[in-house]
Amino acid sequence: MAKSHPSAKSAPKPASSDGDGNHIHNEILIGLPRNEADLLIPKLEFMRLRTHHVLHEPGDTLKSAYFCNSGLISILSVFQDGKSVEVGLVGKEGFIGTPLVAGFRTAPTRAIAQIEATVFRLNSETLVATLRECPSLERRLQQFAQVMAMQTTQIAACNRLHEVNERLARWLLMSSDRIGSNSVPLTQELLGQMLGTRRSSVTVAAGMLQKAGLIAHTRGDVEIVDRRRLEEASCDCYGIMQSQVEKWRGEAG
Ligand SMILES: [Zn+2]
Repeated sequence: MAKSHPSAKSAPKPASSDGDGNHIHNEILIGLPRNEADLLIPKLEFMRLRTHHVLHEPGDTLKSAYFCNSGLISILSVFQDGKSVEVGLVGKEGFIGTPLVAGFRTAPTRAIAQIEATVFRLNSETLVATLRECPSLERRLQQFAQVMAMQTTQIAACNRLHEVNERLARWLLMSSDRIGSNSVPLTQELLGQMLGTRRSSVTVAAGMLQKAGLIAHTRGDVEIVDRRRLEEASCDCYGIMQSQVEKWRGEAG
């Protein structure tokens, strides 16, 4: 009688928490094969980030990489006069530090916690060494880098071509998806910064969406009341990005 069952032994079982009992929500980590998860997860350090915590600035050497576990991280393009605009959004589906996967060392953007967030941190050298032993992890990070590039391209076009109320709807939907909640804790001042537009126009746009019964806006908090109609109020960018991600997910199997 066989003492062990090799197929059962090698069957992938998703990791649900790190060694310290911190629950894993990050989708890249959850989907890893067991042998890679066993190699990687003990090397991760769980961290809580306060709102506005900066993970890196443009030009910084990337000392760490981060698997976002909850909350929302904004990727901003920053100019010397201090102006900045959001070019990417990362939640529990994602990772901060994609240049490292391609062998690069410096950050081209600012990564900042938009709201309170939790992450699993990993030293850059450890990441690079681990990638050599973890082909599935490497592939997943490459795929995520492509998703971010696609998102950034779409957001650039969106900021140039679409009206502020459509962009606001698009932004709220993207944020809500990443946080996993219909309540997005944000001020209008921050929204203006994220959308690269004046605060007053964001206030008008939020007022319009509220009057139409799509959102309820209180000080520092936006509640999505009617998601279906908010999707209709958004420009096509939200749907375009969603369907591209779905298509790629299917192609990757
Ligand atoms: Zn758009």
